[in-house]
Amino acid sequence: MPLLLIASERFADHITPPGHPERVERAHVFDSITRAFRARGGQVMAPRPATREALLAVHSAAHCDAMASVAGEARALDLEGDTFSSPDSYEIALLAAGAVCVGVDHALHGRGPALALVRPPGHHAERDHAMGFCLFNNVAVGAAYARTRGLSRVAIVDIDVHHGNGTQWIFYEDPSVLYVSIHQYPFYPGTGAATETGRGDGVGATLNLPLPAGATDADYDRLFRDTINPALADFAPEMLFVSAGFDAHQRDPLASMRVTTAGYRRMLDYLWTTASAVAGGRLVAVTEGGYDLQALEECLTETVDVLSAPARMPEPRTV
Ligand SMILES: [Zn+2]
Repeated sequence: MPLLLIASERFADHITPPGHPERVERAHVFDSITRAFRARGGQVMAPRPATREALLAVHSAAHCDAMASVAGEARALDLEGDTFSSPDSYEIALLAAGAVCVGVDHALHGRGPALALVRPPGHHAERDHAMGFCLFNNVAVGAAYARTRGLSRVAIVDIDVHHGNGTQWIFYEDPSVLYVSIHQYPFYPGTGAATETGRGDGVGATLNLPLPAGATDADYDRLFRDTINPALADFAPEMLFVSAGFDAHQRDPLASMRVTTAGYRRMLDYLWTTASAVAGGRLVAVTEGGYDLQALEECLTETVDVLSAPARMPEPRTV
């Protein structure tokens, strides 16, 4: 089951203002990872733009129209002044969301796991607005697309240091999408308390695991072993998505966690093992945050390495 990378040099064409942490150089890291993977014979595919139909499964028509209306323009897209467009951003944001759909098709046909190396990130984008550097919610578009392709249950595990408010609210009342987030709390964007567990039919399908600033590899490892792995085994998703943000890394300039590159490798190892055991190896990872370029490159190198290896079966659960 070979890993597919979905990548494009075009992700450097979304340009943010000087000093912005979600910067073009992050795309150059993606290019470096892609070159190394291709050099070893790895399979790389270019993304296709997300269709309007795929976007409308998770975003309002008004939001899709608002993003389309800034094509060709450099504008601030949110009230906080965090999220910007440049002339090509609309087109690039469509490619970022569409890349996850390419990954879904690959995984769905049993061809192996997929990793989409995209920017802008997605998990803060809500149904009707851009936020937190995110224009469209890439992972949510992919999860909803997987549902339309016949899967009845999918899970999203969000290991970005920030809570994925957009992903949570989009699926908050949906029992078919399990959303699990492990994040620094209290912190931007303010959501993600353990008491936020879903609404209506969706109660129990949102699992928030807030951690205080300064959390280490051991804290993350404990939550994976005690809570995340059992929750995924119980939910038994048919496809596992990973919102792969690497800003919990100790080198990251925005957050205050102390996760190492080895700690991130361990998280990916758990996720790949679980996806192999319960979801037939159907794992689709998509980049989110991660603003230290060295940490980003190290963590992506480890992610590619983990997902390129045959999965190990999980240790038996103890009761
Ligand atoms: Zn983040």
